[in-house]
Amino acid sequence: MMMGAGFGCGTLSDNKVRLKNWAWLGGGKNNTDDDWYNLLKKLKENRIHGVLPGGSNEHYEKLAKMTKEIGLDLHAWRWTMNRGGYMKERPELYAVSRDGNSVVDKPPYVGYYRWMCPSHPDVKGILIEDYTELCKIDGLNAVHLDYVRYCDVILPIALQPKYNLVQDHEMAEFDFCYCERCRSKFKEKHDQDPLEMKDPSQSTAWHQFRLDMLVDVVNAVADAVHKTGKQISAAVFPTPTIARRIVRQDWERFNLDAFFPMMYFNDYNGDLKWVEDVVKEDVRVLKGRAELYAGLHLGHVRKYGIKPVVDTCIKNGADGVCFFTGQSLNGDDFSTFSKTIDDLENQLSK
Ligand SMILES: [Zn+2]
Repeated sequence: MMMGAGFGCGTLSDNKVRLKNWAWLGGGKNNTDDDWYNLLKKLKENRIHGVLPGGSNEHYEKLAKMTKEIGLDLHAWRWTMNRGGYMKERPELYAVSRDGNSVVDKPPYVGYYRWMCPSHPDVKGILIEDYTELCKIDGLNAVHLDYVRYCDVILPIALQPKYNLVQDHEMAEFDFCYCERCRSKFKEKHDQDPLEMKDPSQSTAWHQFRLDMLVDVVNAVADAVHKTGKQISAAVFPTPTIARRIVRQDWERFNLDAFFPMMYFNDYNGDLKWVEDVVKEDVRVLKGRAELYAGLHLGHVRKYGIKPVVDTCIKNGADGVCFFTGQSLNGDDFSTFSKTIDDLENQLSK
């Protein structure tokens, strides 16, 4: 386990590099408590440092006891801007497309796309209340944001054919938010209604305005979470450049403790070189101010195998990787992964 003779004599402060790896965990509604415990234990034994399960507050109460005992970090993974739960009582909280449809009446692409509008003050309030409530759970280390963005105005290139689309421009039905409030706020500042622009996609001011609105919401949530003493992390798009352009997510300005960019290379027709470039850009952008964990979709990883993909992420500066999902890891994956991490830690410690 240790890098060589002389280490491991009870000293805690050796120079060993330790990578931190993670797994998103699906709901597992039919799992018994024993199932959960065994899964968590297995992950811990195979070089996973922490888990990001989805679920209810009660679910986290239960898992927190187990992760505490086993020695895993626990982040509560909960969708942020895409949440449909308030549609009935509060339809005015939801985003409106450039062609005038609320996601309440016409969700874009898929039925579960129910984006809230970042300019409504109650959206910020609801999110702060929800995430800080989670922070009260004993043993929970952090909250984890996801869908913390606008609707995809442009889908990743490999996904477009699945929806029979060629998105060589920003299409009105996928372009948000053009609610009365967003438009008038912009008009106050820039003396123009975005709907009256000839081509709103060409306005840097309108693009920037929307980036800023979301950054404002995220940083308000981050401040509130930090006040509780807990941490906050997020699943984000691969790089800030890609994220700003296709989902208006300027994550390099999010005040978070850790970022988990989803490096789902198949969606971008990317190869290992793509992964390398993405990790390098993120390292450059973060400058060490937050931790960087490469989000890896196991279905995509299969194309090359765990070792080459994980090697590429770590050797280019990621602090670890995160698997989507932990439940998809099989016995061979666990042994390959453990060996890969051991080897990397040894190489990096030299
Ligand atoms: Zn709006």
